[in-house]
Amino acid sequence: MANLRDTFRDMSPAEKREASRLAELEEWRIDNRFCGRCGAMMKPHDNPAEQAFVCPSCGYTSYPKITPAVITLVTKGDKVLLQRNTHYKGVVWSLVAGFVDAGESLEDAVRREIREEASIEVKDIRYFGSQTWPFPSNIMIGFRAEYDSGELKPDGEEVIESGWFDCGNLPEIPRPGSIARAMLDAWVKGAC
Ligand SMILES: [Zn+2]
Repeated sequence: MANLRDTFRDMSPAEKREASRLAELEEWRIDNRFCGRCGAMMKPHDNPAEQAFVCPSCGYTSYPKITPAVITLVTKGDKVLLQRNTHYKGVVWSLVAGFVDAGESLEDAVRREIREEASIEVKDIRYFGSQTWPFPSNIMIGFRAEYDSGELKPDGEEVIESGWFDCGNLPEIPRPGSIARAMLDAWVKGAC
């Protein structure tokens, strides 16, 4: 997996798709050797075209699971919100991102993550695009949103620093190959 992490960003879209598919299916196989309901050994589905494991004891069927995460480019007029996260190495500034919680819509997750990490409210949430992210089995769903209210304040735990930047004055941002960079590049193209 460490190897895939090193090479993933530089892959073509087709290579990313195939590498993600294989990594995510492998992760799912490892996690589903035994039934999560009754503990019996799982078996592949009788129909080989069906991507599933079935429990011969209780009948539970497990399909590959992909975990959704949202990532949002927030603008305030002609400025973009960037933040430094404790998870990132070095001094890379990036967008607000986080996993979707149980019971949430994607828009709910966008609003909650921004409220938690940056202490502000947003409006005009619009879909940007998505990217498979096999670390281990995620899909990143990108949105744009406009600042609505509140005073920007990093949460001090996940986010150590945050700020509004204009496109001529960006700090170090994620390198090409991530959806964060694609979203920033698209914004710069429109804003500069
Ligand atoms: Zn079972």
